[in-house]
Amino acid sequence: MINVTMTDVPELEDYIEYLRVIWNERILTNDGELLRLLETKLKAYLKVKNLMAVTNGTLALQIALKSLPIKGEVITTPFTFSATTNSILWEGLTPVFADIDENTFNIDPTSIETKITDKTSCILAVHVYGNPCQVKELQEIADDHSLKLIYDAAHAFGVEYNNKSVLEYGDVSTLSFHATKVFNTIEGGALTTSDKNLVEKIKLMRNHGIISEEEVIIPGTNAKMNEFQAAMGLCNLKNIDQNIEKRKKIYEIYRDNLEGNDLKFQKIVASKYNYSYMPVCFKNLKVRNEIYNQLLKEGIHCRKYFYPLTVNFEYFNNNNLVEKYDLKKASNIADRILCLPIYPDLEEEIVNEIITKISSLI
Ligand SMILES: *Cc1c(COP(=O)(O)O)cnc(C)c1O
Repeated sequence: MINVTMTDVPELEDYIEYLRVIWNERILTNDGELLRLLETKLKAYLKVKNLMAVTNGTLALQIALKSLPIKGEVITTPFTFSATTNSILWEGLTPVFADIDENTFNIDPTSIETKITDKTSCILAVHVYGNPCQVKELQEIADDHSLKLIYDAAHAFGVEYNNKSVLEYGDVSTLSFHATKVFNTIEGGALTTSDKNLVEKIKLMRNHGIISEEEVIIPGTNAKMNEFQAAMGLCNLKNIDQNIEKRKKIYEIYRDNLEGNDLKFQKIVASKYNYSYMPVCFKNLKVRNEIYNQLLKEGIHCRKYFYPLTVNFEYFNNNNLVEKYDLKKASNIADRILCLPIYPDLEEEIVNEIITKISSLI
């Protein structure tokens, strides 16, 4: 079976070297040596001022919302992984869905403007498949209406916009280092911010709000990244450039050979991109599903990321929400989207086979 992705693992010997450090120190978690080293290296690699690693990308989102803090309504995109919408709800906030741009697949600033009420306090945008949002327009809307701006940058590891880290835009950005992402620490994530005041608050929040042995000053949570996760990150970081280069090659083979086949590709606006996913839009839902099923039969497991839209999850219990929120473009893209297999070790031969099969089916 060829899956949509395959987790990057380092040389086992490399990981074992770090395990020796852990065994020697007998510190498994709580701001350990490897965690601090990983944070330093990630800050340098990602060119960000501050970076706080956490247990996973979902807790990063929850802490981002809690730290600012956000109240009331959050304008967000329905074309995303469930964690984006779930974390808004988990924090007791109300998600309000805006439509997306049909070319970039990211939240559409003009749609956001129509959704702002006196209860709105935040925009939670997603750099979908690592493609940067319209950061300038979003910041202008946020400034005009005194809203906070959070980016779910779970897909955007290493991505730059206008030759600057995409993580440096907005109030806070969150990353995911889950096993299926471009860079992984098994499970893991991080928050980045340029706001110095938020740095200490986020560090407190991830460690129960403990400031000293006898003082807890906020009701924090437990979002600490442990040393085994950090060790995995340190190993994987060594191979990241090479892996992104391999992804690029595969991405370009797909595009060069599938283009012109009545397919739609995402319009990438990054100045440096990470080739995290290979999304393709087919003519309609029927064609997309046929291709998905046919490829699955032949052992190729593509994924319909992000179908259904999160606004269509059963727990919203109301099928008219797409219409109510006027999410025509998001709905259209979700019906047509398919993410094809892409990962550093995917052989060119298999990529070519997938292309041949798709071409014969459309
Ligand atoms: C993966 C992902 C997350 C959540 O990250 P986890 O580390 O799995 O908790 C959040 N948002 C998006 C868009 C994602 O793809």
